[in-house]
Amino acid sequence: MNDRYDIIIIGSGPAGVAAAINAVIRKKKIKLFGSRDLSHKLVKSPRIDNYPGFYGISGNELKDRFIGHLQSMDIEISEEKVDAVYSMGNYFVLAVKEKLYEATAVIVATGVSTGRILPGENEFLGKGVGYCATCDAPLFKNKTVAIVGYEPHGEEDANFMLDVAKEVYYIPMYDEVKKLKSGVKLIKGMPREIIGTDKAEKLVLHNGEVEADGIFLLKDMIMLDQLVPGVEVEGGHFTVNRQMETNIKGLYAAGDCTGKPYQYIKAAGEGQVAALNAVSYIDNIT
Ligand SMILES: Cc1cc2nc3c(=O)[nH]c(=O)nc-3n(C[C@H](O)[C@H](O)[C@H](O)COP(=O)(O)OP(=O)(O)OC[C@H]3O[C@@H](n4cnc5c(N)ncnc54)[C@H](O)[C@@H]3O)c2cc1C
Repeated sequence: MNDRYDIIIIGSGPAGVAAAINAVIRKKKIKLFGSRDLSHKLVKSPRIDNYPGFYGISGNELKDRFIGHLQSMDIEISEEKVDAVYSMGNYFVLAVKEKLYEATAVIVATGVSTGRILPGENEFLGKGVGYCATCDAPLFKNKTVAIVGYEPHGEEDANFMLDVAKEVYYIPMYDEVKKLKSGVKLIKGMPREIIGTDKAEKLVLHNGEVEADGIFLLKDMIMLDQLVPGVEVEGGHFTVNRQMETNIKGLYAAGDCTGKPYQYIKAAGEGQVAALNAVSYIDNIT
């Protein structure tokens, strides 16, 4: 039996935090996926002058305020990455590693990725290139895979892959590698291109190349239409109306992932609007 919620919120930046607060005030059973530090875009800001009531606050201080607010309302953050959201008609199933969660409504507040698309990435997507190593692991039994990890939790996926694949290469995009099993081959290099013919065959780095049957790019965030199959996306953002509804019934989006301006207060405001409309949606169908 999968865990079932009224609303699942994906992302713990200002949009996701505001959505969670407002959904809980309206007595909905929620789950909030994100990270303990809430959002690296929040933590990195040295000084914020445009958040009403908090002139000159640092991103770190605002993060602590948000965390205090969540704690006061007993709202917990699940530190897990959501791999995919599937609409089942009148409810959703979310894939999170090997677990599944169900929700009547979903609010996506994942922010936007700043990472560039590698030449060959789109061309070979689904043809040897993927964004979730653990999801596609059975396809690479006894084969060679190269995993580009943009965040340390990519090491867990590489270790997992070691039990399935013949050879696993790990290319970290950060400094300190901590949890990699000894069987995984560590390569230091910057990815430049993916090349192949009918399918991906090689990952070209600035200082060499790796031949692989599968190439996984474990980015800090998944492309929006990969995360939610069937959702309408334009220019890298969800298409939403003023209710923050997407084209999929019960699926809402808020924050940077709906488009510019990329700003805290806009994100938080949209998170609130999304939550209130998700609450009305649930109340009308139950
Ligand atoms: C250095 C810097 C300074 C800035 N200064 C300002 C400023 O002064 N004023 C201002 O208004 N704005 C500023 N911004 C912009 C602001 O940071 C963003 O507009 C804001 O953080 C967007 O909030 P968000 O909730 O939409 O997304 P984000 O804050 O990006 O949060 C997204 C969250 O979703 C999580 N996530 C993503 N994918 C998944 C997944 N698949 N599963 C689970 N969780 C996931 C991420 O881990 C993260 O927690 C600044 C940005 C930067 C980088």
